[in-house]
Amino acid sequence: MNLEAILKEEFGYDTFRIGQKELIEKVLSGEKAMGIMPTGGGKSICYQLPATVLPGVTLVVSPLISLMKDQVDSLNEVGIPATFLNSTVEWHDREERMRYIETGAVKLLFVAPEKIVNDEFYSWLSQLDISLIAIDEAHVLSSWGHDFRSSYLEMIPSLKKLPGSPAWLALTATATQQVQDDLAGILDIPEQNIVKTGFKRANLTLKIERGVDKLKFVSDYVQSHAKESGIIYAGRREDVDNLYNYFQGKGIRIGRYHAGLSDEERHQQQEDFLYDRTDVIVATNAFGMGINKTNVRYVLHYSIPGTIESYYQEVGRAGRDGLPAEAVLLYAPADLNLHRFFIDKSLGDDDYKLSLKNKLFKMSQYAETESCLMKFILDYFGEENTEPCGKCSNCLDNREIVDITADAQKALSCVVRMDQKYGKKMITRVLVGKDDVANDWRHFEKLSTFGIFKDNTLKQTSRLLDFLTANGFLKSSGGKYPILLLSDKGLDVLKGKTSVTRRKEEKVAAESKSIV
Ligand code: ADP
Ligand code: ZN
Repeated sequence: MNLEAILKEEFGYDTFRIGQKELIEKVLSGEKAMGIMPTGGGKSICYQLPATVLPGVTLVVSPLISLMKDQVDSLNEVGIPATFLNSTVEWHDREERMRYIETGAVKLLFVAPEKIVNDEFYSWLSQLDISLIAIDEAHVLSSWGHDFRSSYLEMIPSLKKLPGSPAWLALTATATQQVQDDLAGILDIPEQNIVKTGFKRANLTLKIERGVDKLKFVSDYVQSHAKESGIIYAGRREDVDNLYNYFQGKGIRIGRYHAGLSDEERHQQQEDFLYDRTDVIVATNAFGMGINKTNVRYVLHYSIPGTIESYYQEVGRAGRDGLPAEAVLLYAPADLNLHRFFIDKSLGDDDYKLSLKNKLFKMSQYAETESCLMKFILDYFGEENTEPCGKCSNCLDNREIVDITADAQKALSCVVRMDQKYGKKMITRVLVGKDDVANDWRHFEKLSTFGIFKDNTLKQTSRLLDFLTANGFLKSSGGKYPILLLSDKGLDVLKGKTSVTRRKEEKVAAESKSIV
């Protein structure tokens, strides 16, 4: 079978992208396989092409019900018979579709996971000739993933029992080893059938802006990238609305998107952005899953996302056309608190919360690191032999690197002298020697480290503690009132076994101003 010819004929593409052909070959030989590719890497073709070749129907399960219609429409547009069944389909329409599917004419059937676990639907499904089961957004199956949904996991036993032993293809853009192992176990996928393509996005330049006036930054940025297509991600709906309102009347064609808008408005906003009727869209993370817009030139994060997985997925929406694109994260350490708050309030057991907190910690390390940002992400996803990208804001940071071991020792020993019982704020005030933390029952003023940084500002000192935490010399206890503790790495610094280096002189940090 000439797969290239089929690719050209059915989809109009000349060559396969990395990983596609390998996965397609495995699927066509009836095996269970998993594809781990970055957002925009071209995962869909890996089941769409086999679907056109295999004798029976390809069942595509996806937790993203809202996207099914678009996916089906675009397949029908290129002449591939596809349909979907989910809760949005009316009864009579559903019956009609089912009869049509029974004729064998449909090559791809998209279904929602909750349909699979419905007994009646399942027995109908069991009598179809299913050649392939594609499981999209597979990371949702893993509690190690960033978006675990137990309802997705519940359908797996039923899928496994479907007759005819169809081939399986699980797809995800989440690549941590933990998630990968977990999925391979859940889905019985042999090691040699896991295809993982490189995650590096060479056309994407990563940048971090720390301590800037966010609103001013965004305003200047958008103005100076006029006519370019961009996405601004904000953490909360009210931030989205405020930014959106801020830009009204400023000559920017801007839209907004969040779960608080009506279905109709969301749809309209999405279409306007897709068809270039707006240039910029301000959105919460509800926006973008499966959005197939190739000319997005920048993704700006107004506040830090909770995980590296989400961050990389969101920035991955820039530059899908392969042309240069940019992703800028506006970082203020205080933004982490909102995430901590939601993690504490979330449903789920302590293990789950802890895993989210660890992910958040990794994200904060990304924001604080002084080494290559792209390399940091690739290392996180377990890629080996990665090299600095040479163009991210850290690679281009030409401030001198200085040895700050002595200052680090002072700060760390203060933490120890305070019995590792206090949070960043208190430690900062003791280091700077503020009166309000002296002369009470705790007698901090008697510590040799009290006021040891009296010539520094609170801000500088607090930044030093952030730096030490992000680089693993201190660790945070988490919880509502996080305490800073000495790590093993920090102990080595105190013992003089490890030195600490840092970029000289932080950029002048303006107080970041919130518009909410
Ligand atoms: P993912 O699901 O991995 O995020 P998609 O399957 O949506 O990515 O593909 C991203 C874009 O790349 C789509 O516009 C798709 O049509 C295009 N694409 C996929 N495979 C190829 C290919 N072999 N050659 C050219 N373009 C491709
Ligand atoms: Zn770099």
